[in-house]
Amino acid sequence: MVNFMLKIKGELENLTNLQPEGGCDDPNFTFYFKFKCGNCGELSPKETTVTLSETVPLPTGRGTAHLTQRCKFCGRDGSLMMIPGRGRPLTLADCELHRFAPLMVFECRGFEPVGFSFRGGWKAEALSGTKFNDIDLSDGEFAEYDEKGQCPVGISNLQGDFVVFK
Ligand code: ZN
Repeated sequence: MVNFMLKIKGELENLTNLQPEGGCDDPNFTFYFKFKCGNCGELSPKETTVTLSETVPLPTGRGTAHLTQRCKFCGRDGSLMMIPGRGRPLTLADCELHRFAPLMVFECRGFEPVGFSFRGGWKAEALSGTKFNDIDLSDGEFAEYDEKGQCPVGISNLQGDFVVFK
């Protein structure tokens, strides 16, 4: 079993506290990524998704996981459990220091998650206090105008990495 920390970074313009709408442990936020088989190294052709509030029974019949996946190439089974409580929002200070913010821990058996994909369901706050909800980062960026702060706000150069975490 290997733990992977998903870390995110990006450039925030007049924004801070980028995170899923319900916080870093948002039960309904969907993570999109691919997985790489730990046995044969095959990368899944399609993205898979996990959500904290949704679990499935393990093939062994004992216990549950957030994802069970069988490698289409070698047939090896893998599973993944999410471990909440380790994430924090990505702040403007992180961006100024080119620093990643931890978002979620994934305990994986049999495969490793790769290629995190940003989609919808994010929120952030402008420095003026204006809140931006339902941010869709599918295009890899976000741009708006903050009426209260009278300045443009934006998100760009997003990067999400899964890093082995002990
Ligand atoms: Zn395989």
